[in-house]
Amino acid sequence: MSKKKFKGISTTTLHTANHENDNFSHTTPIYATSTFTFDSTEEGMERFKSDDKTRIYTRWGNPTFTAAQDVIAALEAHGIKNADGSPLELIAYLHSSGQAAMSTLFLSNLSAGDTLISHYSLYGGTQELMQKILKEAGIKTVLVDVRDLKLLEQTIKENPTTKLIHLETPANPTLQCVDIEAITTIAHQHGVKVSVDNTVATPYLQQPFALGVDYVFHSATKFLNGHGSALHGVLLGKDVEYMKTKVWKWHVLLGGNANAFDTYLLIQGMKTLEVRMDRHCSNAKKVADFLAQHPAIEKVNYTGHASHPEHAIASKQMKQHVPLLSFELKGGLDAGKKFIDALEICTRAVSLGTVDTLVSHPATMTHYGIPRDERIKYGITDGLIRMSVGIENFEDLEWDLSQALAKI
Ligand SMILES: *Cc1c(COP(=O)(O)O)cnc(C)c1O
Repeated sequence: MSKKKFKGISTTTLHTANHENDNFSHTTPIYATSTFTFDSTEEGMERFKSDDKTRIYTRWGNPTFTAAQDVIAALEAHGIKNADGSPLELIAYLHSSGQAAMSTLFLSNLSAGDTLISHYSLYGGTQELMQKILKEAGIKTVLVDVRDLKLLEQTIKENPTTKLIHLETPANPTLQCVDIEAITTIAHQHGVKVSVDNTVATPYLQQPFALGVDYVFHSATKFLNGHGSALHGVLLGKDVEYMKTKVWKWHVLLGGNANAFDTYLLIQGMKTLEVRMDRHCSNAKKVADFLAQHPAIEKVNYTGHASHPEHAIASKQMKQHVPLLSFELKGGLDAGKKFIDALEICTRAVSLGTVDTLVSHPATMTHYGIPRDERIKYGITDGLIRMSVGIENFEDLEWDLSQALAKI
């Protein structure tokens, strides 16, 4: 890993990945190997004893993974100092998907009899992991509105077995935001750790470690990769000793390791994170402003608008507003379907964070299986459209949205 501390985000993503390879490859080599050879028993012993377990067996680590992990750790730690003025050191473990990294996070921090507290608006996979797998493992999950800090504190007191508070801000897909710093202060007063799903914001827009949290999680499938070319998850922690012992062990034993081919795509994608995000964010603001004044639209849900309930919190803890937004069509289900079908440039797909604009209609897609009353309770109304704004030229997005809105 390059030990240099770079001033900017792009320099960090371009120059942190490992260039120390024997054959002078400019890009990070793809170490497509399950195992690593030893010249002698002596050398084998040295590598097994070493802190660096990346040249033994790929489930334990691989130099291609190390390159990606170093970039993400450098981004999340960028500019953050410990109380003694030394730079923050983070350990990152790359996984095959966000879900795999989330499993390592929860299972290495919680065991039977423990309680996990989280906000009620979460990514669907996270909520199911809590309510199905953790539940059967004897770990209790309490979902409350953690925007209400009094309710949070009361919930911690009522559940003295609480070990972890997991936050997702902004949340996918509702875009609800929670105050990371205020919640972390309360949690730490009660000896409870805090993890943050930073997928939607990316380390460029939001750095939870600067606000005191213990863990950061990403589905690197989204903006970090940026091109929708592979799945990945990453778990980062600042307790170096705990990360290198228990968390590493659980990661290796659960078997959610990444693969070198996909990791190469992630490393390439991350090189343009800053320039992509600047364009994603400026496009999203223009799209949100355009939609807000359109007569076919009831409501726009965008953290950058003062009408967003957590606009103040989002503005305080993020450098720019995220390029994920949703909006409500006046015409309900029928208008939603017509609008989606009429799009000619935007891509009809679930997921988020790709260079092209992705548009989905939760009522007929991601949330189709959920009874109508229930999904409406969670804010997934009939005419709700979710949009991950891409880096296209804004004039084309404006043209596409205008013509599709004219057809509903
Ligand atoms: C996609 C996503 C996940 C899950 O990640 P996968 O890479 O799909 O396993 C978790 N949290 C958020 C906020 C996501 O958007």
